[in-house]
Parts: sequence; C-alpha cells; structure tokens
Amino acid sequence: MGYWMSNSAFDEWLEHLWQEGEVFGPTRFENKGAFSDTTLYSYGLIHSRNDLVLDHKTYLSPKAAAFPIRETLFYFDGDSATTPEMSERPIYVFLRACDINGFDRLDNIFLHNGPHVDPYYANRRNRLRFLLIECTDHGFKNCFCVSMGTNITNKWHAVVRLADNGIVMQVNNDLAGEEDIINELTNGLTLFAQEIDEFMPVFVTKNLTQVSIPSTEKLNNSIFDHPVWNEYTQRCIGCGRCNTSCITCSCFTMQDIRYDERRGERRRRWASCHIKGYTDMAGGDGYRSKTGERMRFKTMHKINDYYKRFGTHMCVGCGRCDDVCPEYISFSKCINRLTDIIAEKEGK
Ligand code: SF4
Ligand code: SF4
Repeated sequence: MGYWMSNSAFDEWLEHLWQEGEVFGPTRFENKGAFSDTTLYSYGLIHSRNDLVLDHKTYLSPKAAAFPIRETLFYFDGDSATTPEMSERPIYVFLRACDINGFDRLDNIFLHNGPHVDPYYANRRNRLRFLLIECTDHGFKNCFCVSMGTNITNKWHAVVRLADNGIVMQVNNDLAGEEDIINELTNGLTLFAQEIDEFMPVFVTKNLTQVSIPSTEKLNNSIFDHPVWNEYTQRCIGCGRCNTSCITCSCFTMQDIRYDERRGERRRRWASCHIKGYTDMAGGDGYRSKTGERMRFKTMHKINDYYKRFGTHMCVGCGRCDDVCPEYISFSKCINRLTDIIAEKEGK
C-alpha cells in the first residue's frame, strides 16, 4: 500500500516519529559552508518538511546515526567501570541507496569481522529505520554508484518521494525478517496519510562518472611501488576530509577524559588514515609519513583488501571524498588511473 500526505500531514507524522525516537536526514545549515555566506548541506535533525533537503548531496554521510563522531564507551571510578545505558528508541534516517549499501559495509566491519560484535554499533544499527530517497537522472556530480553496483538496494523500510503539494511513501512489504518495523511504520502512516496505489522505488542507472575497478589479483606489489603515489604526496595535505565524509570509513581512536584522580570516561572518536599521527605507536614509531602512502593505504583498503575479506568492495561510489577534497583529488580518477597503469603494463 502506498500513502500520500500533504506537507502539513507529513510534519505531523514527523512529530509522531519524534515521540517514538529520533529522525535524521539531509538538511541545510545556513552560512556554515566552506566560504562566507554559503550553505552547508549535511546530515541533521529533521522536524519538518522544510528541514528535509532532497536536491543536494550532503557533505557528511548518515554514518553517525550508527557510529557517532564521538561516543562514551564506559565510565570508570577507580577499579570499577560502568557502560552507558543503551537506548531502544528507533532512529529514522532519510538516505539514498548508496548509503544503505554503505551501512552494509559498516556491518561487515563492526558485526561480522571476528567472533565478537561491536555492542555500541549493534545497538544503534538495530534501531535504524531506512527511509529511502530516490536518486534522479544521473545522481549528483562525482557519484559513481552504478560502477560500484550500489545504485540499487532492497533493504529500505519505506521510500519517500516528493509529489504535488506533499509527499508519497511506500512501505517495503517484501523485507523479510523486518515485519515488526514495517508494521510500526504502517501503523504510524495510517494515522496521517491517505492510501494510494502501490509503487516501487526508481534507481539511477547511469552516472556521469564511471570507474573501472582493477581486479584484486592485479593490484600487486608493482602497483604498490608505482611512482603514481608520489604525485599524491605532492597534492594531498592530509586534512582527512575524505575520510570523515565517507560512509564506509570506520576507523576510530580512544580518548580518556579524567574528571579527577579516580573518575573519568573512555570515549572513542573517528580517526582518519590520511591524518598525521594515525599510525603513531608506543615508543614513538609511526608509519606512512608521506601523504601519498596514506592515499595508497586508503585506496588499497577500499578496492582491494576489504574485497578479499568480505567479497565486496568497501567503496560504494558516493563520491563525497571527491566533493570535499580541498586539493581536488579525485578518488574515482585514482581508481581509473590504476586500471590504466595495469593495462599499460600488460601492453593493452
Ligand atoms: S571512498 Fe569516496 S566514493 Fe567511496 S564510499 Fe568513501 S567517500 Fe564515497
Ligand atoms: S580530502 Fe584530499 S587533501 Fe584531504 S586528506 Fe583526503 S585526499 Fe588529502
């Protein structure tokens, strides 16, 4: 069953969701852009139709809904420690197909990468409800989701589409194992929406940017030692924007906050493999001092090492790293350059 809501009914529905949990989505932050008098489009709290921005790609991804920028892991008092209380409230997230696939990549890291799941991520992840935003035409500048196979997903709980004087929505009745969430959404929608014919989401089928990913067998030591990485040492300033904007970057570091001699808290916060100090070790050692070496590390992780472990590429082609790099370094061009280098070596 599909649903139509006027904009004011949509606002009432959002208010209803806020009574149950929290609602995140793409929104605007006036005068917070990189240059004066410009707008930043990023993820934030959604309280009304007016807050929801569907015609811009966001600077940050929705990753923080399950993996916050900083979060307290436990509080300590002398020899004892307590963990923070975990909420059970749902987290409703408006997001696109590439980002839903991005959460799949994060699931592999936090939930399927060994015998133990990350309980903090697992708690938030179980609370996520995906409200799919459709992409139109070719997606946005720098998107290459079609090349990565992440332009399509069936893991949405509901899809939202702008319509004349309102919003249309459809719940995903085919999502096996998630019937409770679908019922919860359906019950809420019936309070505020009119029923309409069913419809299915439309996915983008061609981007303006395409990449050709080299096979993992060919990304060997000759590529690892290739001089192409020196160029990135010249250009990359190690700011880490590409990592923080990425839906699939999952590294974090630890930070102890001491209140006094006995008491304090341990937090984790996002870390970036492009930033100086990322590899610092006890004893003062560290690796990858050149930024080109960091670019190589990130590239190999996104399109090589992760694939070997999980059978899918880590990068979902959202193109945010290209959007935000102050040095105009393009990750999609980097991937294509590696493919060209391999073809050249093979005399093709
Ligand atoms: S590496 Fe770049 S294009 Fe790939 S998922 Fe991360 S931000 Fe998106
Ligand atoms: S955003 Fe660009 S300059 Fe900054 S660390 Fe990433 S590649 Fe380097």
